[in-house]
Amino acid sequence: MSDLSTATLEIDLAALLHNFRVLKGIAGRAEVAPVVKADAYGLGMADIAPFLHSHGARTFFVARLDEGISLRRVLRDAPADIYVFDGLRKGQNALFAAHDLRPVLNSLDDYARWINGPSDVVAAVQFDTGMNRLGLRPDEVSQIKSKPNTHRLSLIMSHLACGDQPDHPMNADQLRLFRHHADGFIGTPKSLANSAGTFMGRDYHFDLVRPGISLYGGGPFGEPHPDLRPVAHLSARLLQVRDLRAGESVGYGAHFVAPRDMTIATIGLGYADGFLRALGGRGHVVVKGRRCPILGRISMDVTSIDVTGLAVQAGDTASVFGDTPTLDEQATAAQTISYELLSRLGSRFERTYR
Ligand code: PLP
Repeated sequence: MSDLSTATLEIDLAALLHNFRVLKGIAGRAEVAPVVKADAYGLGMADIAPFLHSHGARTFFVARLDEGISLRRVLRDAPADIYVFDGLRKGQNALFAAHDLRPVLNSLDDYARWINGPSDVVAAVQFDTGMNRLGLRPDEVSQIKSKPNTHRLSLIMSHLACGDQPDHPMNADQLRLFRHHADGFIGTPKSLANSAGTFMGRDYHFDLVRPGISLYGGGPFGEPHPDLRPVAHLSARLLQVRDLRAGESVGYGAHFVAPRDMTIATIGLGYADGFLRALGGRGHVVVKGRRCPILGRISMDVTSIDVTGLAVQAGDTASVFGDTPTLDEQATAAQTISYELLSRLGSRFERTYR
């Protein structure tokens, strides 16, 4: 951490590459196509995507058209297929064509817009196999089979609703339905798996897998996975260390009251940095190898922690997530998922890529 910074987000590119290779090993012949939406889950698409491209990634997924346009600019002339999950809305055909982007068609209306648009725009189509979020429903899939231009579809995809619970019966149901509908599109590549699906075995892999969280070190099933390495390391400086007498309170709402004399530290990280307020009184950070519980409410810029008995001083650092505590551990403490913790990270950190 540089002298100037209060909090640092270190992104370990060697760990990212390790995870990419682990996923490639698992996926076998299926292509591993990174999902880099939401600024690569908060880790910086402009650095993550070219890095993965330089190590062989050739297909990327984003959620929004403007994310796709940014990614195309970032990758410049590098050969890459970029898919936009959001669909193809009215008036967007020309932008998809101009930036060589591929819409994921989510409805019959999207499909109609696509076949009436520029013939050089290649598209994926999404089947809804049970998530009831985006995509063509089973009866609509049969309708596009008879429509023109199915040969111009470059991907047939669907998305698992319960992949993070590998034993959930819905996974097998979705797999069966996807096979049933996708089989009719002979020769068109198929994709069903996100991170969880990739770890669920070959049946789920088809031609291309779309991992996001596992690339970034989050476990596919909500807890750290032994084969994956943490990519994001967030740490914050101790701004002050102070003694507290039994009965004194800490922070807004005087929410925490010291049960005994203790020593506390104030770290330079708050909810404006994406350090979720839900962690107040629940999570912990690690200082000098010891778990230090979070005390009271998290403020906008600062958080109080218990450092009783620890030889610390202002300027020392606290690990917020990374090796320990892990991203998944911190997310569980906040009663959320690693995705939310990462994608809500603020912009006030010093960011380093190593
Ligand atoms: N595919 C789709 C359609 C998604 O919406 C997402 C992310 O939410 C992914 C793949 C990647 O999922 P994960 O981060 O669980 O690997």
